[in-house]
Amino acid sequence: RVNRQDFMEALEEVHPAFGVSEEELQQVIQNGIIHYDTVVDEILRSGELFVEQVRSSTRTPLVSILLHGPPGSGKTALGATIAQASQYPFIKLISPDNMVGYSEQQKVTAITKVFNDSYKSPLSVVVVDNIERLIDWTPMGARFSNAVLQALLVLLGKRPPKDRRLLIIATSSLRPILTDLGLSETFDSEMRVPPISSLRSLEYVLREVELFPSDQERRDATRMLEEAGFGSDRSGLNTKLQIGIKKLLSIIEMARQEPDNAAQRLTSALMGL
Ligand code: ATP
Ligand code: MG
Repeated sequence: RVNRQDFMEALEEVHPAFGVSEEELQQVIQNGIIHYDTVVDEILRSGELFVEQVRSSTRTPLVSILLHGPPGSGKTALGATIAQASQYPFIKLISPDNMVGYSEQQKVTAITKVFNDSYKSPLSVVVVDNIERLIDWTPMGARFSNAVLQALLVLLGKRPPKDRRLLIIATSSLRPILTDLGLSETFDSEMRVPPISSLRSLEYVLREVELFPSDQERRDATRMLEEAGFGSDRSGLNTKLQIGIKKLLSIIEMARQEPDNAAQRLTSALMGL
């Protein structure tokens, strides 16, 4: 027989400390993941391997990885995708976007709480998004919140309690400063998320988001981009095209507003970068 106490205990078991912030994760992957280059699959695959490692190896209860790359290259979305795909019972995103207006101390408290909650679950993933913004990094005078940095240094290196396992996925656009801050040694592995730099990848994205109603129109647009100098040279290199997927998607949406002139809009927006 199930009595009231069993029932209350069951409720408690499923409730507070454990948790997956579905909405938060979904929000940062809103536009999905476009597989415009093998590097995208490689990053997701590596992430999957770390997820499996934490799940199955008793020797590594704590694994932390860093996704770094230029602004808008897709770090947050990839980190969230890896986290979500883990299907761990505890998945949380620590994002500066959710801490607007927080004092230093409030940030430290919020970050510490997520880690403490994670220690209650047998398996957890914590995404520490945009480290430089979390610590309020200001290039001018190289200032930052030392309190938040110190908290992160401790939490990123802290082994979870017995029988608890934790995967940390951090992101940053400022890889070089992490070394000066003493943060880079805490990561077990680093993966670079590059910008889009080939016309082929760009065309892949254009096809995927269906900016052009027909293949012919898309090919015409690609030719226009090639003529504007976005193709690769004889050695296969291209130095002109360097754009994060985030920015590219926003340019595409802008071009979509003017269907008759989309190719031209796209090209001039890319030239103006
Ligand atoms: P920032 O430097 O501003 O923090 P970011 O590098 O974290 O930017 P995201 O915020 O992840 O970039 O933005 C990437 C956007 O592109 C998301 O909306 C995501 O859904 C979309 N996207 C499409 N394809 C990919 C992909 N292959 N990898 C990552 N994001 C992708
Ligand atoms: Mg980001």
